[in-house]
Amino acid sequence: MNLQALDYINKNCEEILEQASNDNNVNEAMIKGVAKFAVANGYEKLSPNQKFHFDETIRPLIEDVQCSGYTHELEEVHQECSSTLPDDRLVEYYQNDGAYCDSCQGQNDADAHTKATFMRD
Ligand SMILES: [Zn+2]
Repeated sequence: MNLQALDYINKNCEEILEQASNDNNVNEAMIKGVAKFAVANGYEKLSPNQKFHFDETIRPLIEDVQCSGYTHELEEVHQECSSTLPDDRLVEYYQNDGAYCDSCQGQNDADAHTKATFMRD
C-alpha cells in the first residue's frame, strides 16, 4: 500500500476516487474523506468501518496495481501484462497515466537503446 500515491490522487486526480466509489456503489464524498484521513493520519487511525471502505474501494488503487502493459515502439503492438507494479512506481503511474513493471521497463529500456543505436547509424 502506497499512501504517497493516494496523496497524489487526493490532490491531482480525485476522479479516480469517484470512479472507484461508483464501481463499489459507495458514497464519493465518504470515500474522499476516508482517503484524506488515511493520508493525514495513517491507516491504523481509521475506524473499523472506514477501514472496511478503505480496503474495498481505495486499497486496490494503491496496492498490487496492474502493469499498464507494454507497447513495442516500432511494432506498435500492445502487450497485456499481468504483473503488478512495485509500490514505488505508483505515484509515477498516476502522474503519467500508466507505468511499467520491472520486466516491461527493461523491455522499454532495451527498445529505446536499440532505437537510439538505429538512429545513430
Ligand atoms: Zn509489465
